[in-house]
Parts: sequence; C-alpha cells; structure tokens
Amino acid sequence: MANLKWKTPRSKTRSRRAANWKLNPVTTVECPQCHQAKLPHFVCGSCGTYNGRQVVAIKDDHAGHSHG
Ligand SMILES: [Zn+2]
Repeated sequence: MANLKWKTPRSKTRSRRAANWKLNPVTTVECPQCHQAKLPHFVCGSCGTYNGRQVVAIKDDHAGHSHG
C-alpha cells in the first residue's frame, strides 16, 4: 500500500490551525484608569498608565496653544 507523501494537501497548508492562530482576535483587557481596551501587560495607549501608575506622558493636543 502506498503511503501518502503529504497528509495535508498543499493547498490547505495555509488554513491549518497553527498557521492562522496569530490572526485571531487580540486579547485585550480593560484599562482600570480610562476603561479603554488595552493589551495586557502593556502601558495603556489611551491614558498612559500601567498598574495605576502614570508611565507615559499623555500628549495633550487640545490644550497648549500658548507658548512661553
Ligand atoms: Zn487607560
């Protein structure tokens, strides 16, 4: 009996489980500060806090027209 050389047809290789899991929905958690969805273990991109601490200074585009 002849053995199959490939169990998965090469046309299906792209749709195998392992090939696609990275495209799956990204896991997000809610920021306790601004309640926006953010990546877990990452600084919130919205308010710049992590673990209740201000880590990144927020760029305030609305205020700050006066200079000097
Ligand atoms: Zn936030």
